Amino acid sequence: GVSGEPLLVIEDLSKSFGGVRAVDGLSFAVARGSIVGLIGPNGSGKTTALNLISGALPPLGGEIRLDGDAITGLKPDRIVHRGVARTFQLVRVLGDLSCADNVTAAIAFREQPLWGDEARHQATALLGRVGLDGRDAEPAGNLTYIDSKRLELARALALDPKLLLLDEWLAGLNPTELQEGIALIASLKRDGLTIVMVEHVMDAIRSLCDRCVVMNTGKKIADGTTAEVLADPAVVRAYLGG
Ligand code: ADP
Repeated sequence: GVSGEPLLVIEDLSKSFGGVRAVDGLSFAVARGSIVGLIGPNGSGKTTALNLISGALPPLGGEIRLDGDAITGLKPDRIVHRGVARTFQLVRVLGDLSCADNVTAAIAFREQPLWGDEARHQATALLGRVGLDGRDAEPAGNLTYIDSKRLELARALALDPKLLLLDEWLAGLNPTELQEGIALIASLKRDGLTIVMVEHVMDAIRSLCDRCVVMNTGKKIADGTTAEVLADPAVVRAYLGG
């Protein structure tokens, strides 16, 4: 990697769906070890931006660099191998499999997979890391909503990412679960992970994000420290739909 450059650099990224410019000339950078919030009203292009970074969609134009290397337009499995993992707005776990098998399946997607006992040991450790201690044998389909989110996070961590993309990971939690979820994400940052999170929950944005990038109708309308951005009248107007 290039030590002087931020971990993630996005330059003039764009994507259209038919006539809709979902992402329009988006540029921002994410420093190593930081958490950046990608925020903005519904339909502003946040999920599309995550889909472009993770390779789920090819961009129309622009560049995405990770650790100084272009990853623009690579297939999702190649981007995973470069060190990017994500969670989804609608939780994706394999309901018929045990929690441990969900995680070992993800470990098998690594560039250097682990198998057998090694994979199972690591799965147990990752389940513990997200607060699912001792739940290895439990069918994923039996988990509560928060626990299925924890499992999805363990699956993303199993890919051994440098950069973690969270798509509303903290949405839909009750106040107790939200505090637990915030503490968990904060602990990932302490471990050195770099995170980009699409989020609406203001308490989570305030307590976790070092910086925020604000989108509206595909364009970046603000970019700065979380305090700066949340005090910006243009951001308040966008959220109020004015
Ligand atoms: P956000 O995540 O901020 O809610 P999205 O990225 O989901 O915004 O959507 C941005 C714009 O792109 C919206 O106008 C949405 O309707 C449109 N869009 C997103 N995905 C698709 C798609 N697969 N096909 C057509 N239009 C899409």
